[in-house]
Amino acid sequence: MSKAAPAQVGCDVLVIGGGISGCATSYYLARAGHCVVLAEEHDLNTAASGRNAGSLHGQLQFEPYRARDLRWSLDFLPALRFLNDSLTIWHQVGEELGTDLEVSTKGGLLVADTDEDAAQVEEKASLEAAHGFPAELVTGSALRSLAPYLSHAMVAAEYCASEGKTNPLLAAPAFARAARRHGARILIRTRVLTVGQCDGGFEVTTSGPVIRCQKVVLAAGGRTPVLAAQLGITVPITDEPVQVHATEPMAPVIPHLVYYAGGRLTLKQARSGTLLIGGGWPASVGAATGYPTVSTASMRDNLRVAAHVAPWMSSVRVIRAWAGIGNATPDLRPLIGEIPAAPGAFVGMFPHMGLTAGPLMGQVLAALVEGRDPGRDLHSFALDRFSLAALG
Ligand SMILES: Cc1cc2nc3c(=O)[nH]c(=O)nc-3n(C[C@H](O)[C@H](O)[C@H](O)COP(=O)(O)OP(=O)(O)OC[C@H]3O[C@@H](n4cnc5c(N)ncnc54)[C@H](O)[C@@H]3O)c2cc1C
Repeated sequence: MSKAAPAQVGCDVLVIGGGISGCATSYYLARAGHCVVLAEEHDLNTAASGRNAGSLHGQLQFEPYRARDLRWSLDFLPALRFLNDSLTIWHQVGEELGTDLEVSTKGGLLVADTDEDAAQVEEKASLEAAHGFPAELVTGSALRSLAPYLSHAMVAAEYCASEGKTNPLLAAPAFARAARRHGARILIRTRVLTVGQCDGGFEVTTSGPVIRCQKVVLAAGGRTPVLAAQLGITVPITDEPVQVHATEPMAPVIPHLVYYAGGRLTLKQARSGTLLIGGGWPASVGAATGYPTVSTASMRDNLRVAAHVAPWMSSVRVIRAWAGIGNATPDLRPLIGEIPAAPGAFVGMFPHMGLTAGPLMGQVLAALVEGRDPGRDLHSFALDRFSLAALG
């Protein structure tokens, strides 16, 4: 007996990936009246979007700022504008989606405890302020009254008023539910295998149905390169397994998002009272499975940095830790745009800070799909910038 042919599904737009980028894009497209299908290999929000630390970033990250040159910072400014504009959406999008996303934007503090680091933090804040970003230097007693939970060894901080935190378990599913209310079809446990161009659009094979669509959005995080290559472009996205640690809940102490100039740290307190401690410490990867797992060495080092910045934390118990795969590009700028060799196919990926960028990523990708002006210059995020640079 011959095997039954796979079911066929037709739609205007197929969105591949059920993280925050794909769910937000599906929502904005479905809300605009398009027939949208979202295909997700596993379940929604199970990759980076549901495993991150919930930081809402609005400043240049100190590690690349210090390691790279001024040209890198200046070239990153459009990406920093993207993050700050996305932060504006975070303020109201929960109400629009009908879900409390536990967003709080009481500002971020990049703290320093040496004169050398303080000077660099001041220099960075001046650069950001000169380009219209909210950044100011806070020192001495002003810092102690703004953040009494910090060690008195901290002598200066950059305060970035736009920054904050959210609960990362909430946003992508809320976007997906709202997309469904507007008619989007969400296919979970549906792995996209091949994406090919055909008359009038694309034919996509999956572990489930064959999907024919006029346009396709690749929002598959670290797996985007595999799909993009089938459409004729190499996008250099690398995987970075990293981990987060969570403490027992406690009464509210830390309203801010805290970073430390002297070592990797992000520290914040979730609405539940749990302290979330991260900052990009490397996780291990299981040799047999390829899955990220928590590294005890990274846990020790991350907690040591946290206890240096806020010494009372050494008596707070860590009750949970997890690992996920973050993604990067060589210049740390996002990849956003239409694939030159495959009109109608779009890529959206924001390195390291894609949770923060997610709502605006959804709006921009939806605008590109509709052929509308995305309201910003995407030139520095072009998909072919690396291959063009290689040509010289
Ligand atoms: C531990 C950790 C901490 C982080 N902390 C922060 C933070 O505090 N703040 C911040 O802004 N960012 C943070 N990030 C980064 C942020 O989480 C990511 O940039 C963001 O979630 C990326 O979202 P995405 O939707 O583009 O990709 P993902 O969330 O990776 O989603 C991609 C989806 O595509 C699916 N997929 C892949 N291939 C296929 C296929 N062939 N067919 C169907 N589906 C497919 C995957 O299963 C996945 O669900 C952190 C990341 C990690 C790992």
